[in-house]
Amino acid sequence: MRVIKILDTTLRDGEQSAGVNLNTNEKREIAKQLVRLGVDAIEAGFPIASPGDFQAVKTIAEEVKGATIVGFARATKGDIDAVYEAIKHAEQARIHLFIATSPIHMKYKLRKSPEEVVEIAVEMVKYAKKYFQEIQFSAEDAGRSDLEFLARITKEVIDAGAKIINIPDTVGYMMPREYGYMFKYLKEKVPNSHKALFSAHCHDDLGLAVANTLAAIENGVDQVEGTINGIGERAGNAALEEVAVALYTRKDYYQATTNMNLEQIARSSKLISKLTGMIVPGNKAIVGANAFAHESGIHQDGVLKERTTYEIIRPELVGYSSNKLVLGKHSGRHAFKERLMALGYALSDEQINIAFQKFKELTMKKKEIFDDDLLMIIDEQQFKQNAFELEYFHISGDNSISTAMLRIKLPNGESKEEAAHGEGLVDSVYNTIDRISGIHLKLKDYQIKSEGYGRDAVGSVHVKVEYNGELYNGRGMSTNVIEASAKAYIDALNRIYVKHGLTHQELKKQEISS
Ligand SMILES: [Zn+2]
Repeated sequence: MRVIKILDTTLRDGEQSAGVNLNTNEKREIAKQLVRLGVDAIEAGFPIASPGDFQAVKTIAEEVKGATIVGFARATKGDIDAVYEAIKHAEQARIHLFIATSPIHMKYKLRKSPEEVVEIAVEMVKYAKKYFQEIQFSAEDAGRSDLEFLARITKEVIDAGAKIINIPDTVGYMMPREYGYMFKYLKEKVPNSHKALFSAHCHDDLGLAVANTLAAIENGVDQVEGTINGIGERAGNAALEEVAVALYTRKDYYQATTNMNLEQIARSSKLISKLTGMIVPGNKAIVGANAFAHESGIHQDGVLKERTTYEIIRPELVGYSSNKLVLGKHSGRHAFKERLMALGYALSDEQINIAFQKFKELTMKKKEIFDDDLLMIIDEQQFKQNAFELEYFHISGDNSISTAMLRIKLPNGESKEEAAHGEGLVDSVYNTIDRISGIHLKLKDYQIKSEGYGRDAVGSVHVKVEYNGELYNGRGMSTNVIEASAKAYIDALNRIYVKHGLTHQELKKQEISS
């Protein structure tokens, strides 16, 4: 059977989703999970975009082993140099170099003639060759490019040293048959096409990203690109879990497979949803909460008699197990550590001690501890960069007017206490946080959901706030929903702080001047 290589771009294209901003710790954790999932290549980011992006790509290249690390670059020397500096220590490094090839992009965006575009592409592939053995070239907006021109530039960049040719449907415009045909055409018409691998990269603007990706596979593509949960620019990218499970379920049809460990899908989806704040819809294929729920009586009856009557995918295949209860009040440090290791976390002794302490505190509030609870404990300790930290809160009030009092640790290490009113409990908490930080954030979205089961389940809050015209996500978890709400808002504040790399005073000044 053919093996289709997987390039995961959750950390690059996925991170371009509106409102998503991951810090370095979160990106590293996602990259490690992608290795467990068995993707062949991880596109870790766009190093030239900002110092934060550069640092995250560098950290992943240095610390994450077991997959090719890919850095994204426009066709300029500065971008290529930045990728080299960021990923030179990777076990296996690849540059992903792109230039637009559609008439509309060349004319309005690049303001270059097709001849100039070919010339730049060739020159930059040659330039990248002095640093990299693996060069992936992308013809941006290939979907709306002229096929003959695509064939011409493809031939030239392969001659110049490109080993992988990506033909992206950047704007999600293609129909499956059309998109598939592009690969057939290029493989036949480009005389040196056998010297390179071809890659598909699809967007979901018309809801066809996965269908188009599968069409490319039918037409001989060697690598497919996508993200977990299908996150990405605008309507997102092809959801890799859907592509992989479609190939598995219909191997009779495609005769193709991937190196992915399908049972790691559920966990990857959860981790990425949690860290990005992009909530997975219940009806989402493969990873939605209802993806394996049979509701109608006729269906339930059928499944009870014989699962395959209505079930084409076993939930266990993608890592959903029915028994999720893991630990309780009497579980010891050893069992706790074992469970964390089974979940893929290798913590130092000191980190285990702190986490175990938090676990014990949680067992006072909650009888049964599930994997989700453990992830919450790790989440707070390991991923977040805490410049502002909630120390204490108290709320009072009725349905109309509430008052909150909070104490928060500031980035300079001092604690500050304030109180404020609000319409409702959460509003009063957020007004108080604004008062303490001195920064007014606009709340754009607030979502709450329970993690795990039962009335004492952990509440998970996601917020989207606006600062200086940009959106930031924040998340917080607690058995108390008001505390979870406060933590989510403070988390967003921390992301603004870390992203801008500013002092607290500068942040306030910037807000005033904007
Ligand atoms: Zn894309």
